[in-house]
Amino acid sequence: MEICFRSGVTVELVKHAASDADVIWAARVSTKGESSLADVEADPERSRGLINFLMRDRHGTPFEHSTLTFYVRAPIFVFREFMRHRTFSYNEESGRYRELEPEFYVPAPERKLVQVGKPGRYDFVEGTPEQHALVTEATKEAYRQAYGAYRRMLDAGIAREVARTVLPVGLYSSMYATCNARALMNFLSLRTRREDAAFPSFPQREIEMVAERMEREWAAVMPLTHAAFEANRRVAP
Ligand SMILES: Cc1cc2nc3c(=O)[nH]c(=O)nc-3n(C[C@H](O)[C@H](O)[C@H](O)COP(=O)(O)OP(=O)(O)OC[C@H]3O[C@@H](n4cnc5c(N)ncnc54)[C@H](O)[C@@H]3O)c2cc1C
Repeated sequence: MEICFRSGVTVELVKHAASDADVIWAARVSTKGESSLADVEADPERSRGLINFLMRDRHGTPFEHSTLTFYVRAPIFVFREFMRHRTFSYNEESGRYRELEPEFYVPAPERKLVQVGKPGRYDFVEGTPEQHALVTEATKEAYRQAYGAYRRMLDAGIAREVARTVLPVGLYSSMYATCNARALMNFLSLRTRREDAAFPSFPQREIEMVAERMEREWAAVMPLTHAAFEANRRVAP
């Protein structure tokens, strides 16, 4: 199989049962009991106010009555960070049961390469053209060598689970990741960098690329919740 080099990530919202109405319905049961279901579409302005109140005062549980399933294809080093988020459910492709496709991550020209500042608050600045050329050449060379070794072992009849030990974390993998809106907001607050956030985070750019796409998909299905998250400076409830 031909080796393929990529700089991007794939994110698709493949399945969801998630809307602002789910939040309203869950919150109003505390005062209205079963009849809260009828209230959902009744008064959009009140709904906006209620969602904002829940977000501001960090009443998080009404945001849990939703599910969003994302398909993600990204390098393995992104998955290692992603899977630290324990409130998601995951299923990932297997390197034991299938031959892994030779698709490898090479940073794009706009990826900032040089790290300055102190741990926990790094800034990244552009690399020189020479530094970019070095990264591109060194990563591709390492990938070719690693994949060549993998291929040689498979061709000699070695088990996939043994042969894969030589593959690097720049290899792409794919997974389904399912969460509710509350878990997603916690993820987004940590994996996007916003200067105006109440608690600015400093994530690795590649997981931020995934987070930004997830946020776009989510904002389209829960616009009031997303607006309240932004208005409350991206503090997860
Ligand atoms: C910029 C950045 C740098 C990082 N650097 C490192 C690093 O150097 N080394 C490292 O090991 N990790 C690192 N991490 C990972 C980090 O420590 C967390 O594991 C990760 O961000 C997941 O956060 P979480 O626990 O809030 O998420 P989730 O696991 O999704 O949990 C969501 C929330 O549920 C609650 N919760 C979940 N499980 C428990 C539990 N067992 N007990 C109590 N409450 C729970 C908490 O309120 C938690 O915030 C880094 C993360 C970021 C964003």
